[in-house]
Amino acid sequence: MPLMDSHSVPDYLLNLNSAQQQAILTTEGPVLILAGAGTGKTRVLTTRLAHILRTSLAYPSQVLAVTFTNRAAQEMRERIAQLLERSVDGMWLGTFHSLSVRILRRHAELVGLQSNFTILDSDDQMRLIKQILKAENIDGQYPPKLIISIINRWKDRGLTPDNTQSPGNAKDYHHIASKVYQTYQERLLILNAADFGDLLLHCLTLFKQQPDVLQSYQDQFHYLLVDEYQDTNVAQYMWLRLLAGRSGGDKGQNLCCVGDDDQSIYGWRGAEIGNILRFEKDFPGATIIRLEQNYRSTSHILGAASGLIAHNQGRLGKTLWTDGDHGEPVSIQGTWDSEAEARYIGDETEAFQRNGYALGDIAILVRAGFQTRELEERFLKIGLPYRVIGGLRFYERLEIRDALAYFRLLVQPDDGLALERIINTPRRGIGTVTLQAIHILAREQGISLPKAAHYYAENEAKGATKAALLLFFENLDRWRQLLEPHNEIPMDHAEVARMVLDESGYTKIWREDKSADSPGRLENLKELISAIKEFQYLPGFLEHVSLVTEKSQSDQQDMISIMTLHAAKGLEFKVVFLSGWEENLFPHPRALQESGQSGLEEERRLGYVGISRAKERAIITYCLQRRSYQGWQPAVPSRFIKEIPGDHVVHINQNGTEISDSMGRIATENPPKKVDRYSEKKPAKLVKAVVLHSFLIGDTVFHQKFGHGTIVDIDGATLGVEFEQSEYKKIIGNFVTKV
Ligand code: ATP
Ligand code: MG
Repeated sequence: MPLMDSHSVPDYLLNLNSAQQQAILTTEGPVLILAGAGTGKTRVLTTRLAHILRTSLAYPSQVLAVTFTNRAAQEMRERIAQLLERSVDGMWLGTFHSLSVRILRRHAELVGLQSNFTILDSDDQMRLIKQILKAENIDGQYPPKLIISIINRWKDRGLTPDNTQSPGNAKDYHHIASKVYQTYQERLLILNAADFGDLLLHCLTLFKQQPDVLQSYQDQFHYLLVDEYQDTNVAQYMWLRLLAGRSGGDKGQNLCCVGDDDQSIYGWRGAEIGNILRFEKDFPGATIIRLEQNYRSTSHILGAASGLIAHNQGRLGKTLWTDGDHGEPVSIQGTWDSEAEARYIGDETEAFQRNGYALGDIAILVRAGFQTRELEERFLKIGLPYRVIGGLRFYERLEIRDALAYFRLLVQPDDGLALERIINTPRRGIGTVTLQAIHILAREQGISLPKAAHYYAENEAKGATKAALLLFFENLDRWRQLLEPHNEIPMDHAEVARMVLDESGYTKIWREDKSADSPGRLENLKELISAIKEFQYLPGFLEHVSLVTEKSQSDQQDMISIMTLHAAKGLEFKVVFLSGWEENLFPHPRALQESGQSGLEEERRLGYVGISRAKERAIITYCLQRRSYQGWQPAVPSRFIKEIPGDHVVHINQNGTEISDSMGRIATENPPKKVDRYSEKKPAKLVKAVVLHSFLIGDTVFHQKFGHGTIVDIDGATLGVEFEQSEYKKIIGNFVTKV
């Protein structure tokens, strides 16, 4: 039953169900909307905000709305402007961080900063911590990355240095970290800087120590709205509680939070799923509203997502239903390797386009950033415009550019830009003054920058700078020699590339960095080495990269989106490809190592988030083998694939027929040979051939290992083949070609 009679219902409420209407119209008092994916939580939150403004319950400046990304805030702003038919400037709508910066700039002096304070990135953070460890004479004893991660975690939990002192042993990590934390905070103030965690922490200090400031905000914000509440950490939670402290009338605080405990995927960054589970206790008298109808997905997609998440123990459990179509079952597609996977996704995407889908309707979700490389290369090759959401394209990423600069300099000793990029990365004590002197020398002498640098090192530089520069050039020479094709013992060029990154100290930068994205950067570097392995020579690879990056300048509007599962939260697409569903990748081994069972459950929630992004089609892919840092590794389909209820999935191969489980074993057979993609001199990669035709008994086929043979029986996708060179074998149709 609708809550309002049809005369009084504003048009923006007309199409909403009664639970949704209730969630919008219960403007007073605390409200928690707890509901599964695609039930309209974000839509309700946006409409609620519009409703508050439209009915003049508050001015735009009196509403505070927290979204998960700045992009989500922008979308919400546009939706509200549309609903209200006017722009809403002055609204406090953004992420916890952006809203905190806005507050802090106003009151910076009260926490010891000036209003133009700088926000430090993880690089600066690391440098500062190292300085402190050195000054305290404890560098070398305590890894700076560990200290930083302890401090960051304390900040996530809203703890200032005073709250972290422990009576423990003076030498234990906790104790040392607490001391360093104290000094670190003092240094930050002297530098007039704040790190990311400080943005919230300083707000908390401000609110606690300056009751009048807090009260002014409490008085200002009559309504608070929070999306994705399941992913708030303790500091964000306290921030909200303080701001919501006094708003509202008799019924309590007008705080409305929406979330889904099954979509909590930021535990590794300190998110506390407990915040959402505790809402009723925290805000007595809260209205809890459950939305159960999913408007996003077909019933197969919803069934697959719900069936997967049902394997988690620690959850509230919800009812979810849809009166939409059954649609098609979720497809599960195994491919030979990641190149075949990318080719499959590219082909399927083109097929969707032919069937009237726009590229903007399609997304590919990956577990780890490195997975985008293979997809990007394929799309560039076939001219499919794409964008990487929430991140950079593979070859534009900082660590990849740095690494490429090393390789360019090896291949092209006069590459001045490459030299400039890495001459002091990692830090070798070669500062701007030295670099300027080298530039002048190069100009005066009309020589390349590297030549000038070399000359400068030998003839002009002094002391430590001289030693560092000479060592740098010595290393470059040594590495170049290893790459010489006429070496007596030729060394694999990918191996040399890996050595260069290790020996130059470059890899170490990211190993020691404790920011959340450094493990991903290390994975990207490994993926780069894997990419090099596909080429016979380093120059061929570099040329390939420059062609690929040049082609990527696309100004087309309609593009397919590639992103990580984490970045996909809250979004929806008609078609969603979920790639790399393999053990050792998804669930991600790091999550299992670090957090065991709870890590596994968080990974499963990621799977749930991923599948539930899809409106019409969800396609899961996995590879039978993946090229890793150490070479080809057989891969096993992710355990999550088996956990999806069988009646909502269909296992397919390129024949369109169902495949058996034996594929994992076949994957250990011959890995494809090294191919120089750039030169296009591809040896026939029959082992990866796509089977386009169905087979008939009597057909002649070719198999990479067993040679030619004749099909003598067919059982689904499994072929019985009499091979000329060996005996009868059962073979999966994917791995032979018809000749
Ligand atoms: P998630 O948990 O993934 O963040 P959500 O609960 O926030 O999902 P929304 O993104 O708000 O869900 O809504 C999902 C889709 O359903 C959107 O396309 C939205 O416009 C649509 N939708 C929501 N409510 C209704 C409704 N009453 N009628 C028709 N469509 C609706
Ligand atoms: Mg949402």
